Amino acid sequence: MSIDTERFRIALLEERERVEKAIANLREEHPGSLDEEVDELAYTGDDHPADTATATLGREIDYTLGGNASEVLSQINAALRRIEEGTYGICASCGREIAPERLEAYPWASLCIDCKRAAERR
Ligand SMILES: [Zn+2]
Repeated sequence: MSIDTERFRIALLEERERVEKAIANLREEHPGSLDEEVDELAYTGDDHPADTATATLGREIDYTLGGNASEVLSQINAALRRIEEGTYGICASCGREIAPERLEAYPWASLCIDCKRAAERR
């Protein structure tokens, strides 16, 4: 294989550390479970519609970040596993090599850009 997996392995490990920190920070800021926070939101009433809207927006963004962070984390772990198995850089869907530029941007990518676009269209 023409890809320098060791370089990507280091990039993935660094990225994993960053993502784990981001998740830890999110948990610190929002110690409650998702269910508790949803109940809390239901109680906010309509006394201050603007405040409620702002709070809701903030929470949605935090959840999105949290969701993306754990998603990225599992993709990073999967990519590290592919490096161990020697299948790193191979599209999981069509089996072609993933473009190196794509791996530079997303070292955890498991699909080539064509398959990724096809998946997003679904
Ligand atoms: Zn593909």
